[in-house]
Amino acid sequence: MTNKKKFDLAIIGAGPGGYVAAIKGAQMGKKVALIEKQYLGGTCLNVGCIPSKSLLSNANVFNKIKQAEDFGIHIDKVSFDYKKMKERKDGVVEKIRGSLRGLLQSNGITILQGTARFESPKDLKVTGEDNAFVQAEKIIIATGSEPIDIPAFSCDHDRILNSTSALELTKLPETMAIIGGGYIGCEFASLFAEFGVKVTIIEAFPAIVQAQGKTISDALSSAFTKRGIAIKTNTAVEKIDKSATGLVVHFKGGGTLAVDKALVSVGRRLNSDRLGLEKAGLKPDTKGAIEVNEKMETHVPGIYAIGDITAIAMLAHVASHQGMVAAANACGQRAHLHYHAIPAVIFTHPEIAMVGMTAEEAQEKRLPINIGTFPFQALGKSVATNETAGFAQVISDKKTGEIYGAQVVGHEASAVIAEMALAMTNELTLDCVIDTIHAHPTIPEAWLEASLVANETPIHFPPRIKTRG
Ligand SMILES: Cc1cc2nc3c(=O)[nH]c(=O)nc-3n(C[C@H](O)[C@H](O)[C@H](O)COP(=O)(O)OP(=O)(O)OC[C@H]3O[C@@H](n4cnc5c(N)ncnc54)[C@H](O)[C@@H]3O)c2cc1C
Repeated sequence: MTNKKKFDLAIIGAGPGGYVAAIKGAQMGKKVALIEKQYLGGTCLNVGCIPSKSLLSNANVFNKIKQAEDFGIHIDKVSFDYKKMKERKDGVVEKIRGSLRGLLQSNGITILQGTARFESPKDLKVTGEDNAFVQAEKIIIATGSEPIDIPAFSCDHDRILNSTSALELTKLPETMAIIGGGYIGCEFASLFAEFGVKVTIIEAFPAIVQAQGKTISDALSSAFTKRGIAIKTNTAVEKIDKSATGLVVHFKGGGTLAVDKALVSVGRRLNSDRLGLEKAGLKPDTKGAIEVNEKMETHVPGIYAIGDITAIAMLAHVASHQGMVAAANACGQRAHLHYHAIPAVIFTHPEIAMVGMTAEEAQEKRLPINIGTFPFQALGKSVATNETAGFAQVISDKKTGEIYGAQVVGHEASAVIAEMALAMTNELTLDCVIDTIHAHPTIPEAWLEASLVANETPIHFPPRIKTRG
């Protein structure tokens, strides 16, 4: 292999971390190489955020159609074609992937299709469709993660699925066990249950989406139970046997569950093991994460790491933001990242979104807090649109009104959380939210009302709803 190419900046991995870093580097006038062994867009575009949300949007349409009678619309018979839904999802992914390639090319970025390995802190060997030695002044590692496979119930991608193969289903089973009640497992549970699959979530921890705090976990458990989704907490799976007709899931400590298919969604392994990191002078931690500072620098000068591989917050928008920071620093600017206002969304029905601290986290830190909660039932827009389930909650400092965190459960939660992320990033207080004129009737009015509740001055709700921390 004699094909030697020199760049100012080389990025390994074209997920939402890597491709954003590449564009930022090119904008700053640098000669940039983006190396990708599979698909542009990484996990997020190809087997994560976008395909899962495409399928979930089918579920949302179906859910709305089921409410048709409430709106005075008669629909005799409703049916669906899941294969067509899956094809729609494939079309969405292909369309965005094509646009992304054009976007990268329009920025003058060199795309190399192949697997990169370090030869030295400034040299990479690329093998695959493109074969080259890449020499770069600065290198950003953005190699992401993939689903964990458990040997005791290894995925065969036919009956035992992971998040990637679950997106490829063209026909739905009658029953499904979802092993792991984190946000990915819960999104799939919500999707499949909407189309009539009898879903059982099996979670080893005491609650589903436990990492998101008790308020969220309780709200989602209750909504799922009402929708007929069975939840078995404090239950670990020992093994899965294949029977003539399906699967038998065995629980540690006894008990079984017979299902047609299982989806294993128990976490993600980090792609740091086949990168030749030792030749770069880097050593990942025991979980495979690469340690970085707030400028996304590793301890080797000139090498940065971003996205899932840092295991800081495994979300696409965090990867992209880290990519901007790493590229800016690699190109001679000064940028750093704070993590106190990261929004996160669970695209279940109901939708859930949060930013900053939960009430429990604030209480553990012994912060003097006010909690203002406003139910969607009392919101004009929610009643008008028949979406009254859910609430918005703001956690703020009792004296200064500084916003420590916010959670929202219900319709449009994914969009509604942006206001609180903006407020927290800019250290705004409850009074700033109250002074902002919110359009009526809209769901974001829930923030105004929740802030008024926290301040003991509710307009559309009696004052007793306020809880003191
Ligand atoms: C089902 C599912 C749903 C999700 N939904 C959401 C959501 O709604 N919102 C959200 O924020 N996040 C979501 N995520 C998480 C999100 O996809 C990840 O956090 C995000 O993709 C991480 O971006 P990244 O750039 O760090 O890595 P990735 O997107 O994983 O990209 C890494 C890229 O590096 C490439 N690569 C790896 N090793 C090499 C190598 N040696 N040489 C060349 N290329 C290499 C890989 O092929 C891959 O394309 C979801 C994930 C899943 C699985």
